[in-house]
Amino acid sequence: MDSIKSMFDLQKIDSKLDKLKNNILKIENELANNTNLEIVQNKINHTTSKLSEIEKFKRQSENKLSEITQKSSSIEKQLYGGSVSNPKEMEAIENSRIFLNKEKTDEEDKLLKIMIYQDEFNKKLQEGSAAINKIKTLMNIKKDKFSNIKSETEIEMSKLITKKEKLETKIKKNHLSQYELLRKTKNGLAIVKVEKNTCQGCRIALTTTELQKIIQLKDIIQCKMCNRILYVS
Ligand SMILES: [Zn+2]
Repeated sequence: MDSIKSMFDLQKIDSKLDKLKNNILKIENELANNTNLEIVQNKINHTTSKLSEIEKFKRQSENKLSEITQKSSSIEKQLYGGSVSNPKEMEAIENSRIFLNKEKTDEEDKLLKIMIYQDEFNKKLQEGSAAINKIKTLMNIKKDKFSNIKSETEIEMSKLITKKEKLETKIKKNHLSQYELLRKTKNGLAIVKVEKNTCQGCRIALTTTELQKIIQLKDIIQCKMCNRILYVS
């Protein structure tokens, strides 16, 4: 088998290897992408800090209510204990009682609102945890699937590498170094077939003289346009 033909076969293997490597990279990138998890985790953090704020307000409100209750019971004692008989004093105490009752109702309303708010945020927290679990389960399924694909791909790649090494021994040293240089600069495609008198790398048409030169010379002929090595089967 001549050097150019082997080089063309090598190109097929290298292109396949490039594709397989690229597949692995793509899946690895996808697995490394934690954006969804981070978004949900940020929401959970926000909800947790809100809940601790709400808890603080709730405690304040409960303390205030218990103060009001204490004050109320001391006023009741004054009112019905018989210790106060002066009408003006009685009236002042009665006014305080009315004021305290109003204050109590307002505070109870406030506490109720806080508790409703707390329920809402607790529900959000539960939803967040459920979402996190779902994302993690899906990620694990993906990881298992990927590890299977990866090991299959690696087996396929190692077979191709064995073939590649065999082929490389059939290629002239200067041909191989030219091929490798072009692979780097030509997006992995160093040698292309000539079909219907046309370079399959850039689609430029070749003259008959050029074609004959490629067939007769049995050496590297590069496309005038895209610089790739031309191969005629
Ligand atoms: Zn070309």
